[in-house]
Amino acid sequence: MTENPYSELFNSQMDRYVAVGRSTWKERLRKLRALKDALEHTYRQALREALHSDFGKPFLETDLAEIYPILSEIKHVERNLKEWMRPKKVGSTLTLIGSSSYIQYESKGVCLILSPWNYPVYLTFGPLVSAIAAGNCCILKPSEATPATSRVIQEIAGALFDPSEVVVVQGEVDTAKALLELPFHHIFFTGSPAVGKRIMEAASRHLSSVTLELGGKSPAFVDETASMGTTSKRLAWGKCLNAGQICVAPDYILVTEKAKDALVSELKKQLESFYPKGASESESYARIINKTHFRRLQNALNTAVSEGAEILYGGESNEESRFFEPTLIGNVPEDASLLQEEIFGPILPLVTVKDAGEAVKIINSKPRPLALYTFSKNKSAIRSLSENTRAGTACINHNVVHLSNNHLPFGGINNSGIGKAHGHYGFLAFSNERSTIRQYTPSSIDLLTPPYTDFKQRLVN
Ligand code: NAD
Repeated sequence: MTENPYSELFNSQMDRYVAVGRSTWKERLRKLRALKDALEHTYRQALREALHSDFGKPFLETDLAEIYPILSEIKHVERNLKEWMRPKKVGSTLTLIGSSSYIQYESKGVCLILSPWNYPVYLTFGPLVSAIAAGNCCILKPSEATPATSRVIQEIAGALFDPSEVVVVQGEVDTAKALLELPFHHIFFTGSPAVGKRIMEAASRHLSSVTLELGGKSPAFVDETASMGTTSKRLAWGKCLNAGQICVAPDYILVTEKAKDALVSELKKQLESFYPKGASESESYARIINKTHFRRLQNALNTAVSEGAEILYGGESNEESRFFEPTLIGNVPEDASLLQEEIFGPILPLVTVKDAGEAVKIINSKPRPLALYTFSKNKSAIRSLSENTRAGTACINHNVVHLSNNHLPFGGINNSGIGKAHGHYGFLAFSNERSTIRQYTPSSIDLLTPPYTDFKQRLVN
């Protein structure tokens, strides 16, 4: 049998993880501050340029949605790590008299972080912040679809960390598969539900624990009580960010009959105001990551149109430059891929519904979403959407922004993910909560060891 190409790296981390796990909060913060400095200063421009060359990501979007969230995550850890690491005393029972019970937060050990291409910096270093905070060693594999950015990511990790603690490995799917053969203590995967299933299968061979941050179709419900100007501005922003290539982008809109015309007209106005000379001329609009994804989107749009869907706005594209215009589309047949598969691009189908009740039925007929957005002032509609559905995360009268609050757990449910990330929840994902009892005095159990005499039986009764 040929040796796994990553065994040596993995074994060097296996030799190191206990020592890294014993590091103090100050030592962990030193590493995180070095990462913060690298992202904020030394490598900021290199990352902006790499992301622009990989898929035309505007510099501002790199600052706002790739670098800033990691800096914010590190600041949050700086404020809280000492407290998070402190063993947590818990209550006890009468039979355990003379002891104390507490939870000790220990590192999991050697972890694997596999990240996707859409936010390559944030989704590689974001989980790493939690992994380091919890005292782990890590191998990271960024996506092969963003070669320029992945190179800078590797350079940053190489400059800051000893490979026996943190190391970046580059490669395609085969690399990920080879890594997955190794008995990692935890695997943190961000990507599609289809690949998430493979990751879980691979993890099952070693019973590695997993965090799966997946995707899926995140619906937005809009009714006639919503403020149309604000709603459409927020939805258009959420959909156009990174040209719709974001896991929590509103995937499709469930709009009430009474709200539809006003919403479409306001969405058009917003898109025109975002890109006054057209999105193709705008420096504020990203491109589709590669031709495979471009063609996937083009096919989905063409098929829906050939089956009777109506383009309400946009629809232009250019394969050479991988430009895809923000596109609103109505009358999409229910079985079209636009309403079945995650769109992950700037096409926004509008589905007309009678009311919140019908929206709930549609949402519940599909796999559970990563995010659910409700735009309404009607309390009973808001309650209906939040109480009668299941989703990993939600916003009421907004979208996407919940990602940025590191006080909130972030993650899906079932098809959209398993486990939570960000802030304390990220720290916990990379920690083992070791339940510990420390006995100080003779224990009541000492009286109950065999042989089980009548006297002992009476004591229990
Ligand atoms: P993907 O699942 O194709 O790939 C993600 C990573 O998995 C890459 O590093 C890739 O090399 C690796 N990979 C691909 N196939 C593999 C296989 N067979 N075995 C092992 N590893 C494999 O995802 P993507 O196209 O890069 O990203 C888009 C998806 O990610 C969307 O579904 C999106 O919703 C989801 N996503 C989720 C979040 C979140 O936080 N929940 C964030 C961003 C993206």
